[in-house]
Amino acid sequence: MAAGHSHEIRAVGIIGAGQMGGGIAHICAQSGFDVIISDISEEVLAKAVAGIGKNMDRQVQKGKLGQADKAAALARISTGSDLSVFADADLVIEAATENEALKREIFKKLVPNLKPEALIATNTSSISITRLAASTDRPSKFMGMHFMNPVPVMQLVELIRGIATEEATFAAIAEFTAKIGKTAAVAEDFPAFIVNRILLPMINEAVYTLYEGVGGVHAIDTALKLGANHPMGPLELADFIGLDTCLAVMQVLYEGLADSKYRPCPLLVKYVEAGWVGRKVGRGFYDYSKNPPVPTR
Ligand code: NAD
Repeated sequence: MAAGHSHEIRAVGIIGAGQMGGGIAHICAQSGFDVIISDISEEVLAKAVAGIGKNMDRQVQKGKLGQADKAAALARISTGSDLSVFADADLVIEAATENEALKREIFKKLVPNLKPEALIATNTSSISITRLAASTDRPSKFMGMHFMNPVPVMQLVELIRGIATEEATFAAIAEFTAKIGKTAAVAEDFPAFIVNRILLPMINEAVYTLYEGVGGVHAIDTALKLGANHPMGPLELADFIGLDTCLAVMQVLYEGLADSKYRPCPLLVKYVEAGWVGRKVGRGFYDYSKNPPVPTR
């Protein structure tokens, strides 16, 4: 098989227009790819495209992107709430909510809409690539492509093969990763891969530290920023990632590795149950209606 030709990527489909899907669309369009984004409603899609425009404006103000390049990138983005929009996609990147049942359902509905040679990648933070691949008709053309938030700024993409991923698929996606200006780190298909296997237990431990009263939100974040030279405190970072996503990753670690050291902190569970899932809704460990944001505990 002439791998390079059979997997040439021109049009990229993205499922889920949240903080990650929007960021992935942004860099793909900016790198010259045609981009089609899909989500559950036209309102979400309109908000996502407006958000991409705003983020590009910021790059223009900083002199990192020309006005004409911004217009050209935005013109390469189209949207639709029906999965039939992916008929011409060479690669579809799934970036919907971190929930295995939901993702499996999406893949089942997606595959009849795809060209037989189209590749599929998932941006899951933690779920088994092999299991997700098995819910498609093409496990050999499926792999993990784990972007970091915010996508336009963060350099890394973790690449994860499932057990059935073909070498041609891996090669095409590794080449695509380089074309969108990112650097790859290869991880094996274990719960939460590399970055979140290390990062999320630290965040969960920070929530335990808060829960047990070892320190308040401000003290915990200040301690890690100034004491460990982290650019953001762990609770600030949790709000940034989304506490729902943090909890979902901890649950995958806890269940997938069957080790009690990954038990999600009850306070994290409570915040998610309250809908206080972080920056994207205006409240998490900080209240974002205030400027600067105010710690809630
Ligand atoms: P988000 O809540 O901002 O966005 C999720 C989007 O998925 C929403 O717009 C929602 O409407 C959409 N969605 C839900 N069901 C759908 C369906 N059936 N069809 C189409 N769209 C649907 O979440 P996010 O932070 O963008 O996370 C998305 C994925 O990226 C998750 O798998 C998450 O684990 C992963 N991820 C997140 C981060 C992070 O820091 N937030 C980093 C890397 C990877």
